[in-house]
Amino acid sequence: MSASPITRSPLDAPAGRTVAVDLSGRTALVSGAASGIGRACALRLAAAGARVRAVDRDVDGLGTLAHEDVDGGGSIEPRPLDLTDLDAAERAAAGADILVNNAGLQLVRPIEEFPPDVFHTVLTVMLEAPFRLLRGALPHMYAQGWGRVVNVSSVHGLRASPYKSAYVAAKHGLEGLSKTAALEGAPHGVTSNCVNPGYVRTPLVEKQLADQAAAHGIPEEQVLRDVMLRDSAVKRLIEPAEVAEAVAYLCAPQAAFVTGTSMVIDGGWTAH
Ligand code: NAD
Repeated sequence: MSASPITRSPLDAPAGRTVAVDLSGRTALVSGAASGIGRACALRLAAAGARVRAVDRDVDGLGTLAHEDVDGGGSIEPRPLDLTDLDAAERAAAGADILVNNAGLQLVRPIEEFPPDVFHTVLTVMLEAPFRLLRGALPHMYAQGWGRVVNVSSVHGLRASPYKSAYVAAKHGLEGLSKTAALEGAPHGVTSNCVNPGYVRTPLVEKQLADQAAAHGIPEEQVLRDVMLRDSAVKRLIEPAEVAEAVAYLCAPQAAFVTGTSMVIDGGWTAH
């Protein structure tokens, strides 16, 4: 009997850390670290030995994260910050060796009904803030001749879906920003890459499941099967820890030649 795609499947989603990454002595900034993928990245990089600046506007979520056990010599330092304060974002990134641009938000609405202020906020948090965090982080990375930038993009950085205009626009922009940072950073030992997950089991997706189920008048299981996982060859959601593993690899010294690329983690979605 196959497991429901909505439930965890220990057979399909391998547990444990398989990539040995040593980031001792490195400082990492992870944006959107209070929840979902960012939280998993913060814990994974700390487990690899990094001092992690955990940036988020969700103070309670950061508090919970800070109480997690870190089993690898690193640490988690909560940094409450709303990334729409772009000047503060730029300052927060000073001195970071590793930058993970992850914070994001989503609104599903046709273009003609999409509120302009929400479009502006999505672009600010998901494109302009990464640019400002880069501006803050790069001088230190360049000075020491080493740095890692990982941009949490999406399949929606490579493909569009209807009703996600702001999100798709921001992610396509992030892809361009990431490639430009790769070209500029290469002479300074700084790599910049995207990771591009399909649907990950996080609050962002759980909210979309509920919204779409209500909008279509169908059960969440059906939204998952017929809408979200329709084009995925692997019929389950991705776990945040699986994305964090890819992020950790891109931060490793061994990944020095991997730059300007987009690591797709989509269960075969874009293979169509
Ligand atoms: P999430 O909602 O669980 O976490 C997003 C975090 O970003 C939250 O903690 C939130 O507080 C924070 N954030 C939002 N606006 C902020 C702001 N103005 N200032 C500071 N922090 C802010 O979402 P997630 O699913 O973990 O998504 C993380 C990233 O992964 C996003 O960029 C998202 O686009 C991307 N992504 C998610 C999926 C998915 O299926 N969940 C798939 C592909 C890409």
